[in-house]
Order: sequence, then C-alpha cells, then structure tokens
Amino acid sequence: MQRRSFIKNTSLTLGALALLSKSTLASFLADPAYKITMLTDTIGVFTESGGTILFMIGKKGTVVVDSQFPASAKHCIDEILKKTKKPFALLVNTHHHGDHTAGNIAFKGLVKNVVAHKNSKINQEAVAIKNKTEDKQLYPDTVYDTAWSTKLKGEKLILKYFGAGHTNGDSFVHFEKANIVHVGDLVFNRRHPFIDRTAGANIAEWIKTLTAATSNYSDTTTYVCGHAATGFDVVIKKIDVLQFREYLSNLLKYTSESMAKGMTKDDFFKTTTIPGSPEWKGDGISRPLEAAWAEMNTVK
Ligand SMILES: [Zn+2]
Ligand SMILES: [Zn+2]
Repeated sequence: MQRRSFIKNTSLTLGALALLSKSTLASFLADPAYKITMLTDTIGVFTESGGTILFMIGKKGTVVVDSQFPASAKHCIDEILKKTKKPFALLVNTHHHGDHTAGNIAFKGLVKNVVAHKNSKINQEAVAIKNKTEDKQLYPDTVYDTAWSTKLKGEKLILKYFGAGHTNGDSFVHFEKANIVHVGDLVFNRRHPFIDRTAGANIAEWIKTLTAATSNYSDTTTYVCGHAATGFDVVIKKIDVLQFREYLSNLLKYTSESMAKGMTKDDFFKTTTIPGSPEWKGDGISRPLEAAWAEMNTVK
C-alpha cells in the first residue's frame, strides 16, 4: 500500500504511529512512495503526496502542471532530469491549494515562468499571509482571466477558466495535440471532494463549469485529476468527469430534499452515502455535506 493512502485511510495520528513497531515503521517510511506513468512518449503523470503532477518534456523545455509539496516536487524534478537536460520552461498551478503549490518553491531558480488563474494567485497569497508562510511560496508571475495559451514546439498549451468550482480559480490545462487535460481538483475520482467555500467554491457553479468544459473538449480527451480513491485512477475519461458532475447534482438534490423534509442538521450529517452516487464512499463525506448545507442555506 502506498504511504499516502495508508495515512489517509487509517487517519493515523502521530500517537498511533509511535505505537507501530520499529521495523514496521522503518519499512513504512522506506516505501518509495512516488510513481511515474507515461501517457505518451513525452507526457507523464507523477504521483506521490498531494495533487497529481502532469509533465511534458518538450523540445524546448519541460512544462510541469502542479507541484505537490517541496519534498515530492524535488523527487519529480530529479526524475525529469534523468529523462532530459532541457530546462524547465513553465510551471502551471491548476489552483492555489498547498497540495498543488507548496512544491513551487522547489522550482525557484529552475523554472522560467509560473502561470495560474488570477484568483489562484490571490488565494495563494491570502493563505500564505494567514499562515505566515510567505517565504515558502513561489507565486505565479503570469496570470489570466478567461483563457491563456502558449505554443510549445509541436504542442500547444491552453489554460481555460470556465467558472467557479472547487475554488474560484481552477484552471483546465489542455495539451491540445496530445489531447490531455489536467483538471486539478475539479474532479475527485470516486472520492469525496474538498469544496473550499473560503476560496469561492460553489457546487451549483461547479456543475455548470464541468458542463462547459466537457462540451469544450472532445469525447476522446484524456483527463487527469488531482485525487482518486484507493483503487481508482487519476487518469480518467469524459464519462468519469460526467459521473462526478452527477455526484455534485445528487449532492445538491439530496440536500435540498432533506431540508424540505425538515431534516435536522444533526441527522443530515449522519448521512453515509449520497443517494444516486454510491460509488463515492469512504472517509470525507462530512466535507461535501457541510459545504452543500451551507450553500443551500445561503441560496435561501
Ligand atoms: Zn488537491
Ligand atoms: Zn484543491
């Protein structure tokens, strides 16, 4: 089992870790936690801890989408440098969350430009100020509003913003020729999502955003998402994006029906499955329940 899922699935506290035998702990910590899967000759997926990294080794330089955390970003950089001596041309952040941008700092002095949606930069700055981690950030030097693109030799990279979703600054990052889109945390594959209302997330808007995006891309587009449940892949197809959209619709429908029936907040939070989307199971259902309850109360 990967270290990441081990930690997440068992919700081990430091105290519990201390109870593990020394040998168990040693093998657990020595587990090489990262994995690279090439999707084409030049485009690959790196997973370790935090949101999925996508990279493209271009003829003129390497493009990296998202950066996880400093330690895992370093692993990713080292692995890429085993494959190419070309410089890092561009780092893209799908959105500001720490599991996608904390590793930016590992690219300081290595990468030419960092690009993200304008709200992603605003959110990253606000969180860093709040947490007093400004010195640990590498911020985007390039931001955009609705679309941004750049030509790479033999490939074109297009960033699009279709509206609020997981936050108010999530980009769809499309390698046009390869027809691969990194959707960041706009899709959680069979895992209950984080819905960051403090950063402008909105479930109703999220549904529209996914509709706009899936009609913009083709039926054969390969999507890469930030997180998947154990046993599910972060590399997905249109059907998986649509099923996640269905999950969000079912979440809102269930919430409004529960409110209409006069269900108490306490009883609502005892929900273990979103009706209509039983494939989303396991830990974390309190996150969407809380977000949906708050959003429906705001709508009223
Ligand atoms: Zn994430
Ligand atoms: Zn996120």
